[in-house]
Amino acid sequence: MEPIKDELNLEEITAIFNAQKANQFVVANQPIKQRRKKLLALKKAVEITYRDAIKEALFKDMGKPSAEVDLTEIFPITSEIKHTLSHLNSWTHKQRVSTPIAFLGASSYIKYEPKGVCLIIAPWNFPVNLTLAPLVSAIAAGNTVVLKPSEMTPHTSKVLKTLVAEVFNNNEVALIEGAVQTSTDLLSLPFNHIFFTGSPAIGKIVMSAAAKHLTSVTLELGGKSPTIVDETASIKSAAKRIAWGKFVNAGQICIAPDYIYVHKSKYEALVTEFKKVLDSFYDNDANTSKSYACVVNENHKSRISSIIEDAKKHGATIAYGGKIDKNSDAIEPTVLTNVSMDSRVMQEEIFGPILPIISYENIEEVIASVNANEKPLALYIYSKKNKNVQYILNNTRAGGSCINNNGVHFYNNNLPFGGSNNSGIGKSHGFFGFQEFSNARGVLKQNIPGALEILTPPYTSFKEKIINLTIKWLS
Ligand code: NAD
Repeated sequence: MEPIKDELNLEEITAIFNAQKANQFVVANQPIKQRRKKLLALKKAVEITYRDAIKEALFKDMGKPSAEVDLTEIFPITSEIKHTLSHLNSWTHKQRVSTPIAFLGASSYIKYEPKGVCLIIAPWNFPVNLTLAPLVSAIAAGNTVVLKPSEMTPHTSKVLKTLVAEVFNNNEVALIEGAVQTSTDLLSLPFNHIFFTGSPAIGKIVMSAAAKHLTSVTLELGGKSPTIVDETASIKSAAKRIAWGKFVNAGQICIAPDYIYVHKSKYEALVTEFKKVLDSFYDNDANTSKSYACVVNENHKSRISSIIEDAKKHGATIAYGGKIDKNSDAIEPTVLTNVSMDSRVMQEEIFGPILPIISYENIEEVIASVNANEKPLALYIYSKKNKNVQYILNNTRAGGSCINNNGVHFYNNNLPFGGSNNSGIGKSHGFFGFQEFSNARGVLKQNIPGALEILTPPYTSFKEKIINLTIKWLS
């Protein structure tokens, strides 16, 4: 099919919505093998046909190294599709459940039915992964889908639009490009589900628009994800894993370790190790390294620069990096020490290559400080002592966690991925994503006349006795 033209007005958007609405039962009632066929076609398009075009576009949009595109954009989609294909039959099968004895003569099951016409709104930081991975779950559940990628990565959106038009008909999956007005127009329509990935501020706008139609939402949001390195942690491996998790995609990751609390006995060692690791990752000069991405645009470059300036004004020391390339969108990996809790770097989501390190003496202070803020999307713990790990897990709240690693929980499709309250509502990946795009329809089938049938009016005293016995013995 021809890709959809660039700027659509509300009328044109509504026409696509209506076409999908009219087609939703056709899509929903296709045999499961048809869903499998679509997922395989999507996999082939991402993994083979469009892989080079995706890489080229992501390099133009944000200087992403080719290996990072493979690891963080291509692999999550191919692995989501593979996982889905191997479980789709069991997920879509009737899930039999037992029926209480009071309803003798009946049987019960759960049927996961598609929600209907769904909207997926994506951010710019992993524009392929975060547009297409939820699409996998939506297709698996049997929905029709409108995709709205971010306007900030236009080259990638163009490739995605061509890819989607090649694999799907518009009345099944349609990609609509556009910025705030397009998003606002889409949000005015009565979708059956909205899956939004982006900032908490826009998440609130999405949720209030959805409330007008009582549309269900999945909100994959962001925030500050703390990392705690305790006195027993292995500093060498912690530094290497944190450095990768923080500086991949130049720190523009929702699940990046936002800042570090390290026990004071390991503070110096961790800072020293970071310097070694970062030199080795980027050959002593990240801004010219082919292994390091850029900041997405001038606005974000100046936002991140001003966060560094503000931290310095509040007394922070640059322990590593801090160089901002005037001729490109590169900002060196920047490690900050002596950081004030009043500086912006500790007040807002960093979403860039700055890593503040704070030392602590008492874990209670750390827990109090984490719990004084919004619930994070992720919280990471580096420790060799299970007792410490359990104590931190039990006394904090977060959407997800890794122990002795960071970010990799995102890649395990058997785990639910998402936030909690300010960092998100609902979960994605694997069965959790499938569930999000499905309505769990409870079905009770009366096979033979049931015992309760004798309890219809008139309510004689004999029937009341039986009702009492039912409450006492059969509830
Ligand atoms: P954003 O919220 O600014 O934009 C996300 C999407 O919303 C874009 O498609 C954009 O066009 C649209 N949008 C922007 N303003 C809008 C408005 N007023 N009304 C309707 N739609 C609007 O987010 P971003 O800058 O693209 O991404 C960064 C944020 O996303 C960070 O907070 C990050 O933590 C979060 N994020 C979360 C996850 C996750 O999985 N939880 C993943 C990636 C990014």
